[in-house]
Amino acid sequence: MLTIDQALERILAHTPRPRPERVAVEDALARVLAEDVRSDVDVPPWDNSAMDGYAVRAEDTGEDVTLRLLGTVGAGASADGEVTAGTAMGVMTGAPIPNGADSVVMLEDTDRSRSGQVALRIRAREGQHVRRRGEDVAVGDVVLTAGAVLGPAALGLLGSIGRTEVAVARRPRVAIVSTGDEVIRPGTPLRPGQIWSSNHLSLAGWVRASGGISIDAGTAPDDLEATVDVLRRAVADADAVLTTGGVSVGHYDVVKEAFGVLGAPIDFWKVAMKPGKPLAFGLVPGGDGRAVPLFGLPGNPVSCVVNFLQFVRPWLRGALGDPRPYLPVVDATLADDLRDGSGRARLFRVALEQGPDGLVARAAGLQSSGVLTGLVRGQGLLLVAAEAPSPSKGDRVRVQVFDDVWSRSDPGYPW
Ligand code: AMP
Ligand code: MG
Repeated sequence: MLTIDQALERILAHTPRPRPERVAVEDALARVLAEDVRSDVDVPPWDNSAMDGYAVRAEDTGEDVTLRLLGTVGAGASADGEVTAGTAMGVMTGAPIPNGADSVVMLEDTDRSRSGQVALRIRAREGQHVRRRGEDVAVGDVVLTAGAVLGPAALGLLGSIGRTEVAVARRPRVAIVSTGDEVIRPGTPLRPGQIWSSNHLSLAGWVRASGGISIDAGTAPDDLEATVDVLRRAVADADAVLTTGGVSVGHYDVVKEAFGVLGAPIDFWKVAMKPGKPLAFGLVPGGDGRAVPLFGLPGNPVSCVVNFLQFVRPWLRGALGDPRPYLPVVDATLADDLRDGSGRARLFRVALEQGPDGLVARAAGLQSSGVLTGLVRGQGLLLVAAEAPSPSKGDRVRVQVFDDVWSRSDPGYPW
């Protein structure tokens, strides 16, 4: 059996380089940047006022000093004239600082009872309320580097330097093939022995949440020829193919064989993990000559998702150029005893909550590999190494977080 690390290492050896495409900045949310973005402008482009008030020379200012008013500059206007000894110029927030001035006295610290004059109530410090040219971004600064995941703030920053488009990693197309004679789609009534498929939905959701494009490639019956057929079509149109089910050692488990027929040098692994032991991995030539990885994931709904998170998600994030392709891991205190034999790495589904002394992890219901409710109630996978004993109440544990909803689960007002 392989360890999770060994299996992952073999998979990540086949991570393709990200392929860039240009998109409009407004469409780039959550995309992974495929270029270093260098600014060719200063932000702000000139010294400007941070306040509505008066641009002055600090040395002229003081309590009860009166200055002669030269005029007013609004935001968007340019400043004519120069602030010289004994004078001031009105400035609105965002207006350029006129020549000669070095600071701004805000409106609230002035009196304007006499026309053409402004009386100050304070002494200004040099540079006060002035936003310096280039203080945010200077010409030549690299403001974002390839691999950055573009959040709302990054989009705003791109706008502030005048960018309308960016190069981001193309989203890998990931085809999902369900297998199993008993597996039918929700919407059709169940006949005896049948179940509604859930894996195609949870995988599609995870593919999209991980930055990929999911393609529903249908369900193959437990038949070699039919499975090869479905797979062949899926491979032609995808950057990676996921199958669920049919990778165990049962009579009807034809997925591995089907991978082989497609010409994949197949690795079939038993990975020393629970849930999710069986995993097949192979590479087949795709439509445009590139190698398309095939991931044969287990059919059990929890094993399927846990395998996706350990093996497919890092590959997908890697293919996007994300330098941090792994889910975050946090420390927590365990609130329950969790029982399970050792010998394999275990990934318990746990719910996370903020306790008085930090994060607390609780078992999210039954830990059987078919129990999907645990993945919904839980936000993380508690990681227990193969050689470690079962964790007990009060233990400090490590939890791989797949849903950070816990961090915003406090209904209280944030302040
Ligand atoms: P298998 O690996 O094909 O033996 O499947 C293991 C278990 O997962 C069986 O109980 C299957 O019925 C179930 N299963 C397989 N595919 C799906 C699916 N798409 N949705 C939900 N359960 C599935
Ligand atoms: Mg099956």
